[in-house]
Amino acid sequence: MTAEEDLVDYKEQTPRVKKYFDDLHSREAILKVENLGKVFGERPGATEALKGVSFDIHHREFVSIVGPSGCGKSTLIRILAGLETSTSGSAKLDGKEIKGPGPGRGMVFQSYTLFPWLTVGGNVTFGPKMRGEPNVDIENEVEKWLKMVGLADFKDHYPHQLSGGMKQRVGIARALANRPRILLMDEPFGALDAQTRSLMQAYLLQIWRHVDVTILFITHDLDEAIYLSDRILVLDANPGCVEEFVEIPLERPREPEQFLDPRFLSVRHRLDVLIHGEFPKEANELSFIGGEDRFADDKAD
Ligand code: ADP
Repeated sequence: MTAEEDLVDYKEQTPRVKKYFDDLHSREAILKVENLGKVFGERPGATEALKGVSFDIHHREFVSIVGPSGCGKSTLIRILAGLETSTSGSAKLDGKEIKGPGPGRGMVFQSYTLFPWLTVGGNVTFGPKMRGEPNVDIENEVEKWLKMVGLADFKDHYPHQLSGGMKQRVGIARALANRPRILLMDEPFGALDAQTRSLMQAYLLQIWRHVDVTILFITHDLDEAIYLSDRILVLDANPGCVEEFVEIPLERPREPEQFLDPRFLSVRHRLDVLIHGEFPKEANELSFIGGEDRFADDKAD
């Protein structure tokens, strides 16, 4: 672990990054969440999952939500998707109160929610067909989306013929084919192995770079959140509330080498402290365990 005193200040930004954020904040806020609250059940025994949550997300911004288990990440994203109702406050997309699911919001979950009886092409065109879009447009579009997620040659395959990463890419293409204003992603890469996960992160960054879409992304992987995001919303638990909205001080486009950037490490340390608290120093002094200390000689040096 890097010694704390060696870390740069995670709030320090290069002129390029500062300009990026000035520009980002000057863009319209497409999602506005104000004083949002959610209580499950009736008293006594009710659970306050979210309390007084407020934040804005700007057009074409990439925001991740992180926080300890049970801090209300899924509840929040489900309210924004219109799959759950809040008990107080408001959430507006483009100025309109969110009251149920709508085409302005695309969802990608961890579990693949593809229709197993439809081909890859059928899955991607399902939404536009349901909305009655002309067939020619749909056919042109499906090629485009499949190419973008690297699956142009898999249009006629069925979901069971695809790997986990490929299924998730179809899920992203399917969500994008509905031309959402915002893509809501709940631990989309959580079930994938590390290598596939890195590949998916690269795909997602390329998609976000080229498509006019805003992304809200839940993850418990702090490195993933830093690598992908403009800002990270850190939630605290019991009840779920905003602890800090952290600006990522890394330039774009992102490269894997940035995982070793001192700014990456400093923001990673900040997130660790916010989520897990300071490392308890006493944990290094477990003399009460007894037994022989295999590093005793080193300590004496
Ligand atoms: P996270 O996604 O951060 O792990 P959740 O949003 O799943 O957190 O849950 C937040 C809190 O709300 C937890 O205490 C959880 O037990 C509770 N909760 C979530 N869904 C329900 C539900 N349908 N009924 C009752 N309590 C719920």
